[in-house]
Amino acid sequence: MTTILVVEDEETLLDTLAYNLEQEGYKVLRARDGEKALKHIRKKRPDLVVLDIMLPKLDGLAVCRMVRKDPDVAHIPIIMLTARGTQGDKMVGLDSGADDYITKPFNLGELLARVRAVLRRAPGQVIARQSLEVGDISVDLVARRAYRGEDELQLSYKEFDLLAELMRNRGAVLSRDLILSRVWGYDYYVDSRTVDVHIRWLRQKIEDDPSNPQRIITVRGVGYRFEV
Ligand code: CA
Repeated sequence: MTTILVVEDEETLLDTLAYNLEQEGYKVLRARDGEKALKHIRKKRPDLVVLDIMLPKLDGLAVCRMVRKDPDVAHIPIIMLTARGTQGDKMVGLDSGADDYITKPFNLGELLARVRAVLRRAPGQVIARQSLEVGDISVDLVARRAYRGEDELQLSYKEFDLLAELMRNRGAVLSRDLILSRVWGYDYYVDSRTVDVHIRWLRQKIEDDPSNPQRIITVRGVGYRFEV
């Protein structure tokens, strides 16, 4: 049975979320603060965590970072609930390692759809997404091939992963650290400049003018964004 941990200190919202997830057939665990959430995650290993950011004791971002640093539970997908919908908040949520985020107030149907989507792409489950397409760039995730229009791009292993990660999160800013952790892995010792170098190589392959990139945009002091 699929178990979902819901972490929220607003009692009414917690009840509503738990009730609706149970109606969908999930087993629901509840936590009302960050410390309790971490305990549940480590002991009960839920299949998914729905995590509010504003929480007593330990906030959601801190919980998320700690989960991502713990090899035993780092793979557990997390959907973050954020109060505001600015680009900055989204960036902070993804930067801490969340798989998806949803802005309050949200529609329950939307949350349930996100839950299903995140569970589908969780490790060991059926891969929901097999290809990505943004503009004339497309990526076949199964065959590990990338195309610009009809032309196949000659990408190295890491360039391919980097392109796929940027396209998966198109429109959102990804920090160098986040890119490092997702593309190179948490334990891999590489300098964040490695990301810049690979971005440069990738630009030479997918941009009309690599010195004036229109697809992979540098967000100064933060990281990179794949333009929609
Ligand atoms: Ca809260």
